[in-house]
Amino acid sequence: MRRRKLGIAPFNTAVVWVAWTKKMDALLGTAPDPVIAAQLRIPAPSVGTRRRKLGIAQVGNAVVKWTAEMDALLGTASDGTIASQLGCIPETVGERRHKLRIARFSTAALTWTKQREALLGTDTDPAIAKKLDLSPGQVRLRRQSLGIPTAKPHPEALKKIIARSGALPVPSQSRATTSTGRQFLIDQPHVQRARTEFADTEDMALTAYLERELAEVYSKSLHPPSCPYCRSRRTILQQKPHGCHPLPRFACRTCKQNFNRVAGTPLFRLRAAKLPLFIRLLSQQIPYNVAARRLGVSIDAIQNWAKKFRIWLLQLDPTGKWEKKVRLGIKARPHIRCPRCGVDGEKYLNGYMPNGERRLCCPACGTAFGISDAERLAQEAVRLEVFHDPGKAALDTETSDS
Ligand SMILES: [Zn+2]
Ligand SMILES: [Zn+2]
Repeated sequence: MRRRKLGIAPFNTAVVWVAWTKKMDALLGTAPDPVIAAQLRIPAPSVGTRRRKLGIAQVGNAVVKWTAEMDALLGTASDGTIASQLGCIPETVGERRHKLRIARFSTAALTWTKQREALLGTDTDPAIAKKLDLSPGQVRLRRQSLGIPTAKPHPEALKKIIARSGALPVPSQSRATTSTGRQFLIDQPHVQRARTEFADTEDMALTAYLERELAEVYSKSLHPPSCPYCRSRRTILQQKPHGCHPLPRFACRTCKQNFNRVAGTPLFRLRAAKLPLFIRLLSQQIPYNVAARRLGVSIDAIQNWAKKFRIWLLQLDPTGKWEKKVRLGIKARPHIRCPRCGVDGEKYLNGYMPNGERRLCCPACGTAFGISDAERLAQEAVRLEVFHDPGKAALDTETSDS
């Protein structure tokens, strides 16, 4: 809003730097921006930016003399539809709509009734959005366009509340466990910032467990295991490890199949050489792309391995105790009652407090606060909920199939 007040154009990646000549400038305003853009082979937003800079009205603008009836049309259909009705270009309609602060047409905008509008401002935008099954942004736009102020958060200043709460103890409950039992370190960033590295969050217990299991699967022991295909114990050694076959091969006398120890596990056909390094990343609270970069493999490979290992961990221990230690690619968000407006639910992570603690931001009232302040004031521990688990869908379909 501040940006619009100052007349600064929104950041637009389509605007490119163009060396404007006098000849090019002379074209501006002689035809609609997209037409000139096509002529000059540059993006249309660049033409618009230049035209506004030189104070040249866009073609079609002068034609429209806005009447009350015409204004009433704004926002009832897309700018393009209204423009064709009025015989001007969509940008003209958009500029007028902006000027009158009327929200862009959307199908949701059609559902606004007097009863629904009466709700605006009676509670926070996210709370009303939930009631009306809209996005908070749609509610905010409508509320602003009607000039209704937002529901006031608690009138007492947050600083005062915090000062008063100094004596309250911080709940001792662990703040890092999600309701699914997966543990996250809340002070670990979810995205990498420039020139910083993710801290080492390896769970040594999981690494040690997987190292033992991997050693068994890739063991060179010549003792024949049971058949992975028919579970028969009538198996014999068929081939000792040699050259390009580093693992012993066995044969099943019951089903006549050949196999090695990896066959029958989800690790079959994975690149064994990278796995000892990969298992150390599996418990790390980092995105797939960081893991892919560290191992020098593609994100697809990391995604596939993470899925296969989670399936394998569930096969090895169906209680899920070990699988829950996997954090690679999974993200969690904090939930707590807002100490200022009282709205319970998801809070966004928003930078750091001066003491290095993560700062939370309430989407309902926009207040930011440190985690321990929030816990003291709300008298409850921050709860973490998984909001992004890229491997979960794949895992669900896989485990329900087998
Ligand atoms: Zn068999
Ligand atoms: Zn709040």
